This record gives sequence, structure tokens and C-alpha cells, in this order.
Amino acid sequence: MHVFDLEPISLPGLESPKLRAVGWIERGFDHPKGDVTPEFMKALVGLLVDPWQPVTYAGIHRCTLCRFSGGPGQLTFEEQRVTLGVANLYVPGEEGVVYVAPSSVVHYIDAHEYVPPDEFQRAVLSCPPMRSMAYLKRVMGLRTTA
Ligand SMILES: [Zn+2]
Repeated sequence: MHVFDLEPISLPGLESPKLRAVGWIERGFDHPKGDVTPEFMKALVGLLVDPWQPVTYAGIHRCTLCRFSGGPGQLTFEEQRVTLGVANLYVPGEEGVVYVAPSSVVHYIDAHEYVPPDEFQRAVLSCPPMRSMAYLKRVMGLRTTA
């Protein structure tokens, strides 16, 4: 599935006007490229170790930018390990917005020079700890249609 960064997005079983896409990139579409700081990468990987999921999906999302392999199944950075292609990451932003990124976003940054929008990077760096009460208060209320 391809969605441009910061566009509204709906996922199967999950619809909310608050959701904004980040990192839904695919072969055949240009994506923004650039550098990110190690601090941002560490924070993003940390949130993806055990991400809260309002809905769960069967199946694995493959990287279509990797030419043959579909991408790796895991990514490890600074001793934190993320499983790729299964979960999505929800990050609360300003004004009630919730960014949703596929877990593969860390692979896109690592291997395909993807750079996420500044406002998402700020939201990641100021995100409350995953599954903390402060986090859940800000991401709950996404309406599920399942
Ligand atoms: Zn790839």
C-alpha cells in the first residue's frame, strides 16, 4: 500500500480523521531522502520494540524497494530489536493527530535513505514511553470499525 506522507490514511478495521500516514512507501513512487540523527533512530526503534496495536493483522508486509528478498525480518540498533513487516506504529502528534507508520519504516530509513517529515520526527522524540498511561491517553479513541 502506498500513501504519501501526512495524507489521511485508513487501515482495515481502523478509521479515524486523526490518522496521518508516515512511511507508506513502495517501489514505483519517489520518497523523500535525507539524513536522520542517531537519536531519532534510537527513539523510533525503541517505540517499535513492542508497539501498542489497536487492531492486529495477519500477514507480513514486504519491502518492495529491496529488489529480491522482500527485506529483512528484523532490525537491531543499539541493542534494541524490531520485528519488521508485522505491526504498525502509532505516534501522537499535535492537535490530536496520530501518525501511523509501518514497522518497516526503520528499514526504509536504514536501507533506502527515507527521511520522515520533521513533524513526525519531533513527535517521536517527544513521545511518551510505549504503553504508558500518557501514551495510551493520546492514542486511544481511534475508532475501530471491525
Ligand atoms: Zn528494503
